[in-house]
Amino acid sequence: MANPTPEAVEREIPQAIDLGELSDGTKIRRRAPRMRACSLKDAKGKLCAGHLKRYYFFGEELQQKFGAEAEIYRCEKCKTIYLPSEEESPRSQILSF
Ligand SMILES: [Zn+2]
Repeated sequence: MANPTPEAVEREIPQAIDLGELSDGTKIRRRAPRMRACSLKDAKGKLCAGHLKRYYFFGEELQQKFGAEAEIYRCEKCKTIYLPSEEESPRSQILSF
């Protein structure tokens, strides 16, 4: 199904990047720039399109992964975790090579 080439993320339609999942099976993704709605599709290919809301009181596993102060969003429908896009984050200065 999906073609795992890095070039795929540079297509015109912004795509979230799958980063893995939590121990309870919750998916973790990185938002595409300007992305406002969940782009996950269910088994039938139907788009979730739930709103991504800022998620403040996340659990210990996410805190350990990303820090207690992390900027984290969550789909209000399927509860998938979304991290901010790297392009939108003010902290993504190019300092580490
Ligand atoms: Zn969703």
